[in-house]
Amino acid sequence: MSLLVVGSVAFDALESPYGKVDRAVGGAATYFAVAASFFTPVSLVAIVGDDFTSRDEEIFRGRHIDTDGLEHAAGKTFFWAGRYSENLNERVTLATDLNVFAEFKPRLPEKYRKLKYVFLANIAPELQRDVLHQVKVRPKLAALDTMNYWIERSNAELRETLKHVDILMINDSETRELSNEHNLLRAAKHIFKMGPTTLVVKRGEYGAMMVDKRGVFCVPAFPLEEPHDPTGAGDSFAGGFMGYLAGCGEKSDAALRRAMVYGSVLGSFAVEKFGVERLRHLKRSEIPARARHFAKLTQFKL
Ligand code: AMP
Repeated sequence: MSLLVVGSVAFDALESPYGKVDRAVGGAATYFAVAASFFTPVSLVAIVGDDFTSRDEEIFRGRHIDTDGLEHAAGKTFFWAGRYSENLNERVTLATDLNVFAEFKPRLPEKYRKLKYVFLANIAPELQRDVLHQVKVRPKLAALDTMNYWIERSNAELRETLKHVDILMINDSETRELSNEHNLLRAAKHIFKMGPTTLVVKRGEYGAMMVDKRGVFCVPAFPLEEPHDPTGAGDSFAGGFMGYLAGCGEKSDAALRRAMVYGSVLGSFAVEKFGVERLRHLKRSEIPARARHFAKLTQFKL
């Protein structure tokens, strides 16, 4: 089943102890779409400027990604710059230039308006809501990601948008900031009052945790000897998670748990190289192999 995503398509400047790039194709929707397309067709809604060339767009080609909803406008593509600490655990944002996103008014192609699985990747909450409103029938599953930038600048808009989604998928510091709660289980209770019925907390090297009324489920991060660049790991996680669910058409507890593993699999591949390079060259067969590795990692007898 096709999966709709709205979010940023960007140029990123990245610095980590493993290297530096000045202009890599990135953006939350880019990582998400590429990761999800291993499981199901993806329909992309985003905007790029006239500096985004046909060569940059190659990342979407040859995959099940429909780019009819990718608008090309006069001006510059969204630009983000970040620098990572020695251990890759901390990141400072050096620049966020919205550029063409500042004036973006998403218009969903007619064929996107009936899609049953929707992911609102990290972008201004009013744009996320606008896209959700253009979907004609209530989706089977709508999930949302956001970040501190929007929690701080557009809090009221974000809360309004949250009323309309089933799953919130954010990292641990964003969970704490949004809920004003340090403890993640208490934070989940606060967040459930805002609208979502499931919270997925992405915890970097500590893995991911899912909380809903049935309980808590945790997956570790894949132990990697040489992670290179955590950029987009969260978006790739979300792509694996939502892609798997849209692909299998289920939302049972068992399916959600498997989605947590496929999310972690895609997130773990994303950090192995700079930018989208590892996902660009990822082979379909590598995914089940790593999922089996995850099963082995967490298996034990009582
Ligand atoms: P992540 O590492 O999962 O937080 O995602 C990083 C990606 O998000 C980068 O490729 C950026 O281009 C994009 N990004 C960073 N800040 C924002 C923002 N404020 N709104 C939308 N996308 C952003």
